[in-house]
Amino acid sequence: MATATTSIQIDDARIASALAVGHHHDAGRVRAVLAKARELGGLDDAEMAVLMGVSDPELLGEFYHTARDVKERIYGNRLVLFAPLYISNLCSNECTYCAFRARNRELARRALTQEEIAGEVRHLVEEGHKRLLMVAGEANPKEGFSYILRSIETIYATASGCGEIRRVNVNIAPLSLDEFRLLKGASIGTYQLFQETYHRPTYARVHLGGRKVDYDWRITAMDRAMEAGIDDVGVGVLFGLFDWRYELLALRQHIEHLERRFGVGPHTISVPRLEPAVGSDVAMHPPQAVSDTDFRKLVAILRLAVPYTGIIMSTRETAELRRETFALGVSQISAGSRTNPGGYSDEERYDASQFSLGDHRPLDEVVRDVAMLGYVPSFCTACYRLGRTGADFMDLAKPGEIRLHCQPNGLATFQEYLSDYASAETRTVGEALITEVIATLEEPLRTATQKMVDAVRAGARDVFC
Ligand code: SAM
Ligand code: SF4
Repeated sequence: MATATTSIQIDDARIASALAVGHHHDAGRVRAVLAKARELGGLDDAEMAVLMGVSDPELLGEFYHTARDVKERIYGNRLVLFAPLYISNLCSNECTYCAFRARNRELARRALTQEEIAGEVRHLVEEGHKRLLMVAGEANPKEGFSYILRSIETIYATASGCGEIRRVNVNIAPLSLDEFRLLKGASIGTYQLFQETYHRPTYARVHLGGRKVDYDWRITAMDRAMEAGIDDVGVGVLFGLFDWRYELLALRQHIEHLERRFGVGPHTISVPRLEPAVGSDVAMHPPQAVSDTDFRKLVAILRLAVPYTGIIMSTRETAELRRETFALGVSQISAGSRTNPGGYSDEERYDASQFSLGDHRPLDEVVRDVAMLGYVPSFCTACYRLGRTGADFMDLAKPGEIRLHCQPNGLATFQEYLSDYASAETRTVGEALITEVIATLEEPLRTATQKMVDAVRAGARDVFC
């Protein structure tokens, strides 16, 4: 049983020595690291550092090929889709990179009412979404934390036509242990929180006011969430604030800490890069901007270092870069996103957005594009609803068995999307892909999957195993 949380000290000396060792490498060392990565056991600090230094085009090609291979062996060719739902941009913190920061007068403030949240949910359901990530600034309207709980309840209770939201993940400020227990009671999927930067001096420089100035309260949030029984937690770094190499190795230490303490690491890792935000110079001019080349590299390193953890790619990135990262290990993507509260119902109101987006395409277009690239867009929520979370999920994922569930569930939920929401063009592309993928499956999985897809085509909904 876990005991009370003390803070997590990131070992800077350990990071510095890994980066120093990683600097001196040759092609043989790089290939040895890639061979180890193919065994799916993850990588240590020095091995991650070796990959950070790869620049030779041939070696980079081998490196990216390995990342793709590892991703496909564990996750198959599916990509899970979701949309963020911003319920409020009220915030008492002063994060210099964010448009929602308290002292920003250029932003229109808004906390959605429960009716407005229901309206947003109907809009997303009618587009075909089944998974949402609920997001809020750190200042709840009058009713305090119960606003968050009521909002989750509203999302689950709002159906439209034959659709509904089946999994609500949340990205909200760190909570106390008791509040995390209440959040767990609200049947959330993943609790997501980004440390922003693991580098304390940088953290202090960019967080100037409000509760978020407390680095330790934030870095221990996942401990409290897991102590409260939330099995699936999602970590992340806001890339662009400090050196990405340092951040990856520090993130690794955070993950190791959770694995040591709870026997299981995070369910997902998010890799947001700083995007322009109204009223933020830091967001316009990131102190340590990550180039596209380094960004591809960092995604591939994460894929090989922690092969069983999902990687999330948001619409902060352009369609083109997102496409490239699918092959490097990304397993979940958002689509058709708005980052302003009420943004789905009122398409004109961008003045309340948190940051600007790189990919503005509607869900249908993203789904078609993903399918044309040969990936199966999945709306599956089965693991969470069958209690396959935390250590149980990892036990299944480790031998690659999760694919036996994901493949049929992914295809059945994709068919559900195609039957209920897709344009004619997307439906044609999608159904051809489903036929193609089923033909590659071995028995008995092939017959079982075909049956599930046929059942959906015949009108059954929410079919999963
Ligand atoms: N307010 C809570 C918090 O800060 O943890 C949760 C929601 S906050 C809206 C979600 C995330 O948005 C932050 O953790 C941060 O990483 C990201 N973010 C803030 N400003 C950004 C920007 N300019 N570009 C990209 N991502 C940004
Ligand atoms: Fe508030 Fe979160 Fe934005 Fe910071 S990142 S200003 S806490 S919404």
